[in-house]
Amino acid sequence: MDYYSSHILKLIEEFSRLPGIGPKSAGRLAFHIINMPQEQVDSLTEAITGAKKNVRYCKQCYTLTDEELCPICKSNKRDHQTIMVVENTRDLAAYEKTGQYHGVYHVLHGAISPMLGIGPNDIKLKELIERLRGDIREVIISTNSSLEGETTAVYISKLIKPTGIKVTRIASGVPVGGDLEYVDSVTLLKALEGRVDM
Ligand code: ZN
Repeated sequence: MDYYSSHILKLIEEFSRLPGIGPKSAGRLAFHIINMPQEQVDSLTEAITGAKKNVRYCKQCYTLTDEELCPICKSNKRDHQTIMVVENTRDLAAYEKTGQYHGVYHVLHGAISPMLGIGPNDIKLKELIERLRGDIREVIISTNSSLEGETTAVYISKLIKPTGIKVTRIASGVPVGGDLEYVDSVTLLKALEGRVDM
């Protein structure tokens, strides 16, 4: 026998699918929503559908953005000859928070992982190589120091080498396997300044 309304059960089921939310938290969230003022519930649902509908890839760096070109790619204050390659938009945000990186980015949306069956064609790699036809001086590979991140870094560096463009890798010191977004700004800056040729 179900103690709850079918709608509440459905809500709990949906929340349980989200990352980091177990059955207990899902239940707490579901009941919290039932008790929220209608206005707040409307604004939450609008935020979710609005984000899903309107957020898209920047046509140059593939970060998630509202417009065709993201504000970084659009800016003439940035050094467009230096491209930092990151795994996701959250990593980009981590470097932006330091306020000390003035180049542009390329967001891969993942990393190569033979274990998970993620190959070079499953991330935005072709798109990066395409960009290198332009006037590029340096590519800084800032993928995570996990096995997948390192595999991706080596793969990219081998692809770029023949073009003669300088390829560097951020210094280790970023905790192994740690998502870049959880690393503090000082550590990120040290990793960036201490980057080495690949
Ligand atoms: Zn962009």
